[in-house]
Amino acid sequence: MDREEVLRRSRAQLVLLRVRAQGECEVEIVPVGPLWLGSHWVDRRQILCTAGTDTPCELCGRSMSRVTGFVLAVVTQLERKRLMLLELSPLSWSGFEMSSRFEGVALDRGVITRLSRSSARKPLRMEVVRAGGPLASVSELEARLVNAVAVLFGIPLTQGSESIEEWRDRVTPFVARLAAIGAAKLKA
Ligand SMILES: [Zn+2]
Repeated sequence: MDREEVLRRSRAQLVLLRVRAQGECEVEIVPVGPLWLGSHWVDRRQILCTAGTDTPCELCGRSMSRVTGFVLAVVTQLERKRLMLLELSPLSWSGFEMSSRFEGVALDRGVITRLSRSSARKPLRMEVVRAGGPLASVSELEARLVNAVAVLFGIPLTQGSESIEEWRDRVTPFVARLAAIGAAKLKA
């Protein structure tokens, strides 16, 4: 990895927002995505799954896979706004969509949302509070989302104006190699 790539990756990195059991916080959800990915847990690490692509996943059949989504969230801490990455389940996201319809808040702008989790095993609850600010360029936000997720999973960043689909296709062989390494660990 050259120096420029290291710099790009450090700039792309976003902290994962965690909501603890019985915790609650209010954030502005950036409704770009979610970026949905299948993954396996190996040695307490999440490794991406290539099921559904042309490249078979060596972890499938050895360990359970689950689908996780990622969105961006703006968190205000000490009057400073900070962009963070939020991981969610399909159930949490459908609750969020339902809540936005109920509140009459469109998802073409930021959405002030109350996040809560009743217990560690329960999915994240996302309740819409009100409409937030207008979104910056959607393609720019999409690239930020994809790149933050790419850093999280240790896979290549987007190149140029690549779409999410183009990026997925390009990084699939890379993801498959990581899955193969994970599968070898399970065998050992
Ligand atoms: Zn898999």
